[in-house]
Amino acid sequence: MPQTQKREFKAEIAQMLDLVVNSLYSKKEIFLRELVSNASDAIDKAKFKALTDAALAAENPEWGIEIAVDVGAGTLMVSDNGIGMDLEELERNLGTIASSGTKAFRQALKEDKGADLPELIGQFGVGFYAAFMVADKVRVVSRRRGGEGAFMWESDMTGGYTVGESERDGFGTSVMLHLRDAHKEFLDEWRIRELIKKYSDFIAYPVKFRRIDVPADEKEEDRKRREESESKALNTMTALWKRAKKDVKDEEYAEFYKHLTHDWKEPLEKIPFSGEGAVEFKALLFLPREAGMEMYMPQTKKGLSLYVRNVFIGDDMEMLLPDYLRFVKGVVDSADLPLNVSREMLQDDAVIAKIKSAVTSKILSALEDLKKKAADAKEGETPAWRTFWDSFGCILKEGIHTDYANAERLKKLVMYPSAKNPDGKLISLEEYVKDMAPGQDSIYFLCAPKIENARVAPQIEQALRHKCDVLFFCDPVDEWLSESLREFDGKKFVDIARGDVQFGTETEREAEKSANEKSAVELKPLMDAVKARLEADLAEVRLSTRLADSPCCLVATENGLSPAMERMMRAMNKSAPKEKRVLELNASHPLVEKMKGLSGAELDDAVDLLYAQALVAEGSPVPDPARFGKLLVSLMLKG
Ligand code: ADP
Repeated sequence: MPQTQKREFKAEIAQMLDLVVNSLYSKKEIFLRELVSNASDAIDKAKFKALTDAALAAENPEWGIEIAVDVGAGTLMVSDNGIGMDLEELERNLGTIASSGTKAFRQALKEDKGADLPELIGQFGVGFYAAFMVADKVRVVSRRRGGEGAFMWESDMTGGYTVGESERDGFGTSVMLHLRDAHKEFLDEWRIRELIKKYSDFIAYPVKFRRIDVPADEKEEDRKRREESESKALNTMTALWKRAKKDVKDEEYAEFYKHLTHDWKEPLEKIPFSGEGAVEFKALLFLPREAGMEMYMPQTKKGLSLYVRNVFIGDDMEMLLPDYLRFVKGVVDSADLPLNVSREMLQDDAVIAKIKSAVTSKILSALEDLKKKAADAKEGETPAWRTFWDSFGCILKEGIHTDYANAERLKKLVMYPSAKNPDGKLISLEEYVKDMAPGQDSIYFLCAPKIENARVAPQIEQALRHKCDVLFFCDPVDEWLSESLREFDGKKFVDIARGDVQFGTETEREAEKSANEKSAVELKPLMDAVKARLEADLAEVRLSTRLADSPCCLVATENGLSPAMERMMRAMNKSAPKEKRVLELNASHPLVEKMKGLSGAELDDAVDLLYAQALVAEGSPVPDPARFGKLLVSLMLKG
């Protein structure tokens, strides 16, 4: 290989770098947090490797991070003695974005137009590039632990990057920034001290400062003072989760969260706690404000970081959290686990199972508190609970199905839009039950693709007339979950668009039934004709007990698939049989009355129109839109 090689950035990196330079983001200082955070991660990785690598363990280096400035040359260098990178890793980590992220990143770039650039950088794990906010040239020299030789990566952003062989004394990585003129402030020792204190105080390894270009005429006493001061770490290195809650400032928690997650936003809520009893551990958990990558990428990292007696074992420990809490971030530190554990061993470790269950319970309590507090929110204020629910409610709900032990607690947390409440307002099941009409014994719900569809659904007409509210299940998971909901507070969940549903008192129901029986005799020829015409689509035509103002509606048979389920099965490539549904007619509707008198082609057209409008009303596609259109036009001409 030649000594160095010139490479072009992948298109999306070039685009991003362009945004970095032109970013108006005021807090350019956070570049230091990103670099120190990367250095700390690299030492974490090396320390973890030492658990299984006898040579490295024997070497037992003094782990640390150094910030060295050369005021004359205008450079700032962040060095660590962590895991290091070989040539291939330098290219992969610094020259490209993880390919899974590229598409999503490009998409987000397009939509965001750079307005929220720092957030994007954080979200897509490209914090390293923050260096270019203050530097016009960045040079990385690295030596991989266990590898051969040292390598460098260098870029001035505009012309791609160069990689090649290099030299470095020990293992680890140095990132050297040549600062732009406007950002020479970052050469100042006190500025750097302030930033480390502010953003990186909890970093577990000493971060030290060193001046490279010491003036030749430095006095003896100045030298002593400088050396004394440079020998001390700028950070206190105390693990935040070990400190008492009252001694930690909110800003410190927030900075730790950002270090941990690479999120650039403040956390929504912090949950520090200690597990006591069967297993002892300390945990510091966070609820993010918004759903991050889990929205974009299916294989997102999830889970908590695990420490055993202060030694970092790994992040993304998904076995510490149930899947439906995968949005929770944080750290668990326990002395009750062996140090040399592998991920596989942890998977079914009894101690881990106990931690998981305690962590789950604690998170649920925190959510319960958050929900309680939401009741005191002032007019016009969005309570944290609502922010949480809008971001993660659809994930949390899955627990009702998957976590049998906590299903009842989860049911008290879920919220839905409903027919009686204005758009935007959500109600809990407790609120629903409290507001039930006299004599109402079930919790009614309607599945619909959108709230707009649900609001105008004919299936809810009689319910509303009888003052029964109807929950709208409009999240894609809601319908699937409805099976698992079963009961709340002794009340059964009833799909209002399925099987038999009747409202009112016993006497009212009886009266309605006998009236329908009477009409059925009279309407038999019409119902038979409709059934014959729609033989392929319908299991049954009958008179309805749920309609008030609409002439007809479609409902599922007691055990049949709903249209949404049918679509889902098809999407999953299962050969779902075509589901035959039930068409219910409103016996007291003038249109039904009118149709009684039709026959032949006129009746066929009317039946087709009626069926098509029932489909449109629930948000389903019409089988023959062209014919539907034509029928509508000719009807309008007649009118
Ligand atoms: P992130 O840290 O969010 O993954 P970065 O762009 O900051 O994104 O870094 C990309 C990758 O480069 C890191 O995931 C890591 O593998 C590698 N890297 C960055 N800095 C260092 C370092 N000091 N030592 C070793 N590897 C590093």
